[in-house]
Amino acid sequence: MKIRIEKNQNPKPKPQDESKLGFGKIFTDHMFIMNYDEGEGWHDPRIVPYAPLKLEPSAMCLHYAQEAFEGLKAYRGVDGKIRLFRPDKNMARLNSSNARLCAPLLSEKDALDAIKQLVAMDADWIPRAQGTSLYIRPFVIGIDPMVGVHPARHLLFMIILSPVGAYYPEGLNPVSIFVENEYVRSVRGCLGHTKAAANYAASLKAQEEAVQKGFTQVLWLDGVQRKYIEEVGTMNVFFVLEEGVVTPSLDGSILPGITRMSVIELLRSWGVAVTQRKISIDELESAYKAGKLIEAFGSGTAAVISPIGSLCSGTDKMIINRGEIGELSRKLYDRLTGIQWGRVPDTFGWTVEL
Ligand SMILES: *Cc1c(COP(=O)(O)O)cnc(C)c1O
Repeated sequence: MKIRIEKNQNPKPKPQDESKLGFGKIFTDHMFIMNYDEGEGWHDPRIVPYAPLKLEPSAMCLHYAQEAFEGLKAYRGVDGKIRLFRPDKNMARLNSSNARLCAPLLSEKDALDAIKQLVAMDADWIPRAQGTSLYIRPFVIGIDPMVGVHPARHLLFMIILSPVGAYYPEGLNPVSIFVENEYVRSVRGCLGHTKAAANYAASLKAQEEAVQKGFTQVLWLDGVQRKYIEEVGTMNVFFVLEEGVVTPSLDGSILPGITRMSVIELLRSWGVAVTQRKISIDELESAYKAGKLIEAFGSGTAAVISPIGSLCSGTDKMIINRGEIGELSRKLYDRLTGIQWGRVPDTFGWTVEL
């Protein structure tokens, strides 16, 4: 794909203190845009200076949330090489979100090519401190200037980049989780399996109330029976039980995480049994009471592995592994981050060097 490039003539100063980056607050000098117009297809791919967009106030995405996005990172390795982690999977997932949202599909190869060229262009923005990275946010929005509900005929595919801080500046840290019994994130047949903006609007209330109660995040239960475990915040969830590792099966309301997929493949390569199945909160509590709940952790691009120290369900509180980081959680975290930052050999061929 031939990308037109317009260089930013007024580059911003890069953040000096990489310990204060936080998440998603600063953006680099350039962004990628490509238009879709019915009859013409995707066209005019370009890298231009990062700047506000000009949109009609009637632009469809502002009213009906026809938006899908992705989240991945570029890592500056200990060997100086820049790596992406399984970016082809992100592009495939973006297309699966697009398909569900009636947005036109992208060429996954071209989309990945756009990411690579944009990251290469702003490579100086990839922070260097341990645990930091460059967050990559591709997204698709419908922009028809029309407040009628229908699939957009005019869309944008864009990519923006943000240098982000270490998720665990003080080292891997177990979190306390509230088992959500009022709000649900999605139901089978809705958008739960896509990275659609609408899912996150639906999740804000539960998250806000959980934080007010002193928790880090919520554990989502299924929207029909309020019984089966789905995800933890914006992460997939795993439990280490006596029988092996269990994670909820992807039945339509759960986001198919790329970290989740990698955790399953890693565990199996270590000879650890992993089952994808329904697991109810009652089953989990019984396992806990019987002393058979050994570890619990979330998985996602931002945190990689997030050990769960406690789960609060109604008046019951489960303290998992004495509130400490489990052995398997630690091992998975070390291996995944090792591969991402080039500290250990990538025997799976997961990383793509720039
Ligand atoms: C992005 C996301 C995940 C994790 O997916 P990764 O590909 O591992 O980053 C899990 N759940 C939700 C709801 C998400 O948005």
